[in-house]
Amino acid sequence: MPETGRYAQVIVDIAVSDTDRVFTYRVPEGMPLQPGARVEVPFGHRQLEGYVIALTEGTDLEEDRVKPITAPLEDYPALLPPLVELAREISIQRHCPLALSLRLMLPAEMRAGRVRIKTELAAKIRISPDQVEAAAKSETRSPKRRLLLQLLSDGLSHPVSELKALARDPLPALRVLEEKGLVEVAGQEVLRQPFMGGELNQPEPVLTPEQEEVLGEILPAVKRGAGSFLLHGITGSGKTEVYIRAVKECLKEGKGAIVLIPEIVLTPQMVSWFRGRFGDVGAVMHSRLSAGERFDEWRRVRRGQARVVIGARSAVFAPVERLGLIVVDEEHEPSYQAENAPAYDAREIALSRAGREGAAVILASATPSILSFAKAVRGDYMLLEMPKRVGASVLPEVTVVDMREELRLGNRGMFSTLLQARLDACMQAGQQAMIFLNRRGYAPGVLCRKCGFVLPCPQCDVKMTYHQQDRVMRCHYCGLTQALPEICPACGSKFIKPFGIGTQKVEEELRKRYPQVETVRMDLDTTSGKNAHQALLDRFRSGQARIMVGTQMIAKGLDFPQVTLVGAVLADLSLNLPDYRSEERTFQLLTQVAGRAGRSDRPGEVIIQTYKPEHFAIQAAAAQDYRAFFNQEFARRRQKLYPPFTMLVRLLAESSQASRAREVSGALHTRIREMLAEKPRLKRRVIFFREDDSPIKRIAGQNRAQVFLKLLAHPESDEVLQFLKDLAEETWPCRVNLEINPASLA
Ligand code: ADP
Ligand code: ZN
Ligand code: ZN
Repeated sequence: MPETGRYAQVIVDIAVSDTDRVFTYRVPEGMPLQPGARVEVPFGHRQLEGYVIALTEGTDLEEDRVKPITAPLEDYPALLPPLVELAREISIQRHCPLALSLRLMLPAEMRAGRVRIKTELAAKIRISPDQVEAAAKSETRSPKRRLLLQLLSDGLSHPVSELKALARDPLPALRVLEEKGLVEVAGQEVLRQPFMGGELNQPEPVLTPEQEEVLGEILPAVKRGAGSFLLHGITGSGKTEVYIRAVKECLKEGKGAIVLIPEIVLTPQMVSWFRGRFGDVGAVMHSRLSAGERFDEWRRVRRGQARVVIGARSAVFAPVERLGLIVVDEEHEPSYQAENAPAYDAREIALSRAGREGAAVILASATPSILSFAKAVRGDYMLLEMPKRVGASVLPEVTVVDMREELRLGNRGMFSTLLQARLDACMQAGQQAMIFLNRRGYAPGVLCRKCGFVLPCPQCDVKMTYHQQDRVMRCHYCGLTQALPEICPACGSKFIKPFGIGTQKVEEELRKRYPQVETVRMDLDTTSGKNAHQALLDRFRSGQARIMVGTQMIAKGLDFPQVTLVGAVLADLSLNLPDYRSEERTFQLLTQVAGRAGRSDRPGEVIIQTYKPEHFAIQAAAAQDYRAFFNQEFARRRQKLYPPFTMLVRLLAESSQASRAREVSGALHTRIREMLAEKPRLKRRVIFFREDDSPIKRIAGQNRAQVFLKLLAHPESDEVLQFLKDLAEETWPCRVNLEINPASLA
């Protein structure tokens, strides 16, 4: 019997609740209810949804003031107890209402009853199997009824839609059989399953000695239900096989597992391969699923029918019971950091959840984030390394080309002489190439050659990007589009032209050079449709297209054995971002993109074009030397006092009026100064703080002013942080957001 108390503590799911008020409701006699259940409750004059977070026997409230719960929303508790705990922790850490963090634990469509359980009509025999033959014989007048009885003789439930394939229009006949009491026709629940298929029971490869070795550490941890690992394996070292085996071990132990993969790598192909390894115990969770699919996959997991979840960031909250393992693949990816409140980090959640539920954690990457690697060096994670590629493939040969030198030699084009020659050879040999440029659009701006005017976005403090295909200027921050000006808005001259290059222009150039070769371009502009992404990958995989041009989208996880040449066009682009992580990002992107070459027995070649050939991030990426990069970057962070040595915090004030945003940031600044003046103990932990406009002063019409603080990594800094959190929560004349080590400092 499920335990029930007489009173329920309920968090009411209201979007605007600033506070976490827990309301007490009476549990009506005989209503089975467990903590974690969703319920409908009277609230004011409305009926609202709520979460039962606890049941109690008594209450301090007056009995007649306590209203009864109207009804449970499901006949099972939707929230597992450890996930309620987790939501609580997130609310405290991220300073958000519990109603908001609890929402993370459920598919959005479950709230407000937006998806319905799907049913279909199914037929089932009602007599015992040995009576079927006789019954069928007596159906002399209808061969169809006879056939149907025979089809149903296995005693199983058959959807009417499937019977249609065998007997045309079976329903009237089934209804007759139903009236005779031979058959039952009723609605049955169906689960919408995305990506059915995938070849089951794919053969398992024989493990390499390196894979054996790291699994020797991981498998006991999975058994034990504790342990965190950082798996640093170069591109193509076979990390995926390692965690597939770890997941299998989990299942053998009767436990479940969650595998997180960046959304962009989670292609249908990846998913069907995954299903091939795990079959029906595998579930998929990511944002490209339809609402119904997402809801049904969630329910398969909640019921324990699916025990392994593969998914993007939010799958870390999947309702897997008896969790044994969480894998975070490509752990360095910024997409593991949620952007909207509560801005959780899936890696932190994975560690916290695993600790609470007795699971092991594997963070895996060819280019671990500086923070994770530093933790591994410190001993927080066990470091496992796989420095060799699987089988005959070896790391590609990398050449760095100095584009300043090219310019001196009179080459004003986007491709260096070397890259041109290698592309020619690659195309002639019938092989495939990838060209990487981390900037979409045709040209990053239009410039008046006469007066120097650059077209800005009217709503944001950034240049507008030229898109050739639809011949418009587009803002990459707010999405606003506008016509390409024919004359300069500043001086009226006609010499206003696009400058610089983006992926569209690279694609155009390649089409000119190799008119007989099909090119695909992968960036945000070409992959927005539901299946566009997969269609492009398929064209390239099949060999129909032989050149792929793309942004960071092509750097991740793709495994195309026929690619022998990779070119990075403007490799230092990401070095120029206003962000202390731009070195790290550049190294990761270049190493990952270089890792796309030579993934089979044919050797690969990588050409990195740059204006900063001596930069250590580019040098280390060219040498494919993670350690060298880590050591230099870690020393730089220590010297410049960046994370993990410090914590960067900003209070961002946003308003449609510039003066108001600055007013608020000024007031915030004053309050902080006063507090620190009163508490010298805390002041010692603050390296500096300043108030100004944010690097991008305006986005989508919102003016942005900020107070930026650098705090020493020290327990006392938490007190400062608490003060800042409370400060941000106060009522201000405009929106104030607190960001801790924000993903972007724009
Ligand atoms: P990583 O994720 O480390 O970049 P992958 O997991 O993509 O590497 O593995 C690279 C390639 O090696 C894949 O094609 C994979 O199928 C193959 N592979 C992995 N392990 C083995 C093995 N033990 N034997 C044969 N092939 C393997
Ligand atoms: Zn001009
Ligand atoms: Zn804009």
